[in-house]
Amino acid sequence: MTQHMARLGALRGYAQSRGHAQSRRLRRPAHGRNAPRRVAMLSVHTSPLDQPGTGDAGGMNVYIVELAKRLAEINIEVEIFTRATTGALPPTVELAPGVLVRHIDAGPYEGLAKEELPAQLCAFTHGVMQAEAGHRPGHYDLVHSHYWLSGHVGWLAAERWGVPLVHAMHTMAKVKNAALAEGDTPEPAARVIGETQIVEAADRLIANTDEEADELVRHYGAQPAKVAVVHPGVNLDRFRPADGRAAARDRLGLPQDAVIPLFAGRIQPLKAPDVLLRAIAVLLDEDPSLRERLVVPVVGGPSGSGLSKPERLHKLAARLGVSDVVRFQPPVDQQRLADWYRAATVLVMPSYSESFGLVAIEAQACGTPVIAAAVGGLSVAVRDGETGFLVPGHDPADYARALRRFIDQPHLGEQLGEAAARHAQAFGWGRAAASTADVYTDAMQEHRRHLRSAHG
Ligand code: UDP
Repeated sequence: MTQHMARLGALRGYAQSRGHAQSRRLRRPAHGRNAPRRVAMLSVHTSPLDQPGTGDAGGMNVYIVELAKRLAEINIEVEIFTRATTGALPPTVELAPGVLVRHIDAGPYEGLAKEELPAQLCAFTHGVMQAEAGHRPGHYDLVHSHYWLSGHVGWLAAERWGVPLVHAMHTMAKVKNAALAEGDTPEPAARVIGETQIVEAADRLIANTDEEADELVRHYGAQPAKVAVVHPGVNLDRFRPADGRAAARDRLGLPQDAVIPLFAGRIQPLKAPDVLLRAIAVLLDEDPSLRERLVVPVVGGPSGSGLSKPERLHKLAARLGVSDVVRFQPPVDQQRLADWYRAATVLVMPSYSESFGLVAIEAQACGTPVIAAAVGGLSVAVRDGETGFLVPGHDPADYARALRRFIDQPHLGEQLGEAAARHAQAFGWGRAAASTADVYTDAMQEHRRHLRSAHG
């Protein structure tokens, strides 16, 4: 509760600091004639009010918050439905002007894992229906669901309200299972079935990249015409080089002359923070004198299958003999995270699968290059050789080699970092929201056409 409230304060504070610009923008006409006035956005298993970087809260939470705010700025109101996980929160919370979070009672507040939520989808849908029933018919013009669990609620709600369903998968079971880390738990068949049903039911599917669009078609039989690609964004006001690396290192108490490869994000096998630690061990083996100059922050908390053994990474660091250079940091708010990005020599993201990888684009927006696995959205987020390096596979020796370049060529980081900051400029949330609004308009037009032809 306290964490929720503190975070809400931070989110509101940000909204208020931009309040003047927002009220100006809210007076602008709606985005296109057929754009929705009000969208029901569904995020069953994780709240936009949660602190990202641990547990179930990550990129999708950031995506929903940022997208909703920018949609509201172009006059599309958003109401976000999420499962109540504490009794202390009010039923509704205004996140920003035009963005309302609705807490739905579905199952106990605490102790339910994401894997147990399929059994609560009826209860959640009931809550969503009740909320809508309190308004005049036609309150929502469109449903936008996030992740397969929400897709199932959206399927029914959209049909009942006679409005289109737009769905974003964020991650897909078949894609995750095809690239599992060694020993990681595969996603269950029930999820694959659920995802296939949503692909069939949705009027539009939003994919982060062309590759994800292709995966929807190849693995789930999506009709290509239903799939739209919208790159997610980065908050360019928050993530920017600002006063630079030296000042950020001062604020974080980090040495000015250190080499700092940073890991940021949810700690789970899928994100492969272990590959970074193993690469560090390789570097130190090759050149023990580096020990004096290396600081390896790991910012984030346990998540997913990493939750069952939260101490695993600490133990690995000890086994590899690198504990003295690794600094584990609990998740931080994005203002603070921006400083970690600025302070770093390079962000390292050796993930096995990543539908986009927001931290890669956030770090670049702060002027920090990225070493990333050449998987999923990371191949779009990072320009190989220009804003960082894409590494095929997960061999720690390859990551050590890429890191070595930053050590051997002290100006490389600066050079790639400048290009990275420029590259990130193309990923503002304003653009992502405008493209999403176009998808909404398309879905509404087609839905109306279908209704007209169905009624002769
Ligand atoms: N994040 C954060 N604090 C942390 C670590 C991460 O706010 O301590 C945020 C980060 O800014 C990013 C998100 O969590 O927006 C992670 O998104 P990403 O797409 O990289 O990974 P996901 O969590 O979706 O797998």
